[in-house]
Amino acid sequence: MSFERSRAQALAAPVFTGWSAAIAQTEPEGGPILAIPVPDDVVNNNEPIEFGLSTMGQGTMERRHVPALMYHHISDTNDRFATSEAALGEQMAWLHANGYVTIATGDLSAAMTSGAPLPRKPVMLTIDDGNRSDHVFAATLARHGFRGVYFWPDTSPLSEPEMVELAEQGEIGAHTRTHPDLTTLARADQRADIDENARRLRDVTGQPVVTFAYPYGRFDEASSEVVAELGFDLAFDAWGEPTAVGDLDRLHVPRLEIPNGLSLDDFITRVEAWR
Ligand SMILES: [Zn+2]
Repeated sequence: MSFERSRAQALAAPVFTGWSAAIAQTEPEGGPILAIPVPDDVVNNNEPIEFGLSTMGQGTMERRHVPALMYHHISDTNDRFATSEAALGEQMAWLHANGYVTIATGDLSAAMTSGAPLPRKPVMLTIDDGNRSDHVFAATLARHGFRGVYFWPDTSPLSEPEMVELAEQGEIGAHTRTHPDLTTLARADQRADIDENARRLRDVTGQPVVTFAYPYGRFDEASSEVVAELGFDLAFDAWGEPTAVGDLDRLHVPRLEIPNGLSLDDFITRVEAWR
């Protein structure tokens, strides 16, 4: 269950090689990655672009989109946030058959920063809240050679050994200690709720935890500032529009919700709209 073992497994996994780089990253050194307060035009990593070329001389800015699918739990209930195991299996089989490759958040970040190459059809498969069915999610993804991104609050019912086991099959991101609507909390309380969760996840999993997802997709100005101050590399929203990689805002990466009862045809239409 060691860090080295996680890394070795990541290197052996049949996925985009950036996973190993993401897992090998050291923990953020605590300093802010962005100046505070952060004006939108700085956060956006969104320098003027002409015909796909960066004016910063960094090479080709990535004009493709990376769909970041958002799941919550895998079950046969009617809950809006549930996806049946059968539907998830169909969706993963389609992605696999159609050439999609899961990338790590670090791969996306590198593409945003320096135009690092991405696979031809990249996708991120994220699941929030640390429900028990994360095991089903991980196993289903693994059958198709995919790895997931797991956003866990401390309210998750997963035991620490379960977290370690799942962390070896994917990537772990922070999702707050108490899963609050952050906009109801003072700035200092937002910071503590996010930071304590991230520290615990690092301790438990031995992974760097450099991504965050806003609970309920709710945030205010302080939320984004705190996320930047704490050194997170990327923060994910719970919705959004398809956005070219070169135009993404690090503190608000959009995600595509996969709702309960979505037909495979509608799944395909939605995913393809994000390419
Ligand atoms: Zn959540």
